[in-house]
Amino acid sequence: MATLVEVTVRRHKLRMSYEQEKQVAIEAVVAAAKLCQRVRQERVQAMEKSDKSPVTVADYGSQAVICRAIAAAFPNDPIVGEETATELREPTMANQLAQVTSYVQAVVGDATSDDVLSWIDRGNNEIGSRYWTLDPIDGTKGFLRQDQYAVALALVELGELKLGVLGCPALPVDPDQPDGEQGVLFVAVRGQGATMVPLSGGTPQPIHVTAADDVGNMRFVQSVESGHGDQARQDAIAKAVGFTSPSLRMDSQAKYGAVAAGRAALYLRLPSPKTPDYVEKIWDHAAGVIVVEEAGGRVTDMYGKPLNFSLGAKLSDNQGVIVSNGVIHDTVLAALQEISKV
Ligand code: AMP
Ligand code: MG
Repeated sequence: MATLVEVTVRRHKLRMSYEQEKQVAIEAVVAAAKLCQRVRQERVQAMEKSDKSPVTVADYGSQAVICRAIAAAFPNDPIVGEETATELREPTMANQLAQVTSYVQAVVGDATSDDVLSWIDRGNNEIGSRYWTLDPIDGTKGFLRQDQYAVALALVELGELKLGVLGCPALPVDPDQPDGEQGVLFVAVRGQGATMVPLSGGTPQPIHVTAADDVGNMRFVQSVESGHGDQARQDAIAKAVGFTSPSLRMDSQAKYGAVAAGRAALYLRLPSPKTPDYVEKIWDHAAGVIVVEEAGGRVTDMYGKPLNFSLGAKLSDNQGVIVSNGVIHDTVLAALQEISKV
């Protein structure tokens, strides 16, 4: 029989390895990603939030499914998610609420509309010394356009990213076969590396960023939405660093997945000239950042500072985001400085 010391050591190791957190997060993200795929197959219409950005029943359904799972396993952990149920509670939204509930019921058989509303609002916490952050659908515009989108969940402790689970339901499993199987899950735990597995299942494979600094035959990624970056400056920086191919344009944190898996060497996201004071949200980056870092890459803001996840729902200490294979990072930062002087 194990001694008390042995049991305590085993428990401690389990806690430090984030094994339970990882399993709960993977199961929740996979269920949410499948919910999103079903909604998209049925071509459900978008609604408009009060800030005019689009939201769909899939955003709400995904947040409900994930928050329910995290709250059940870790009842004391705050969850900082993108959506709130406020608008879905309006009497005029009864049809949409019924739709969300029926999609959630495919995952949780006996879920009621009240359950769904309260699970969504479980994701409306403030950050804490340990918290989860969730984007139930990152890249809603891509989701609606039949392009890329992601379900992104991360765990932060004392400001440090510990776990990231990034589901990319529309990303090709094999980049050389863009019309082949789609749906990839990226998982990273601090100190344990990053892996990739098809959403349909299989054995997770370790992933690594591209090792080389010869960027001539590598790609860089940026947003599809021109309003989410400064494409002119991004193109100029990539050219100055030596990229010769046009950028891969991709919605959502699938861009982080592309860098982590070595499909691209650089992701540039500089403030758009239309919204120079835009402050990035933690849920748009947390999962992607740890996946890239654990795959051997580097993520900073446009001044070379690490992203600060300890300040609140926004990355208020940072401006712009630069994601690279690490090898080229300082060269990219220098090129950015140079081009910004002009
Ligand atoms: P992407 O798919 O990479 O273009 O990014 C999608 C995310 O961009 C959304 O989740 C929004 O939170 C975020 N976003 C919205 N407006 C802006 C903006 N003006 N600049 C940068 N990001 C934005
Ligand atoms: Mg987002």
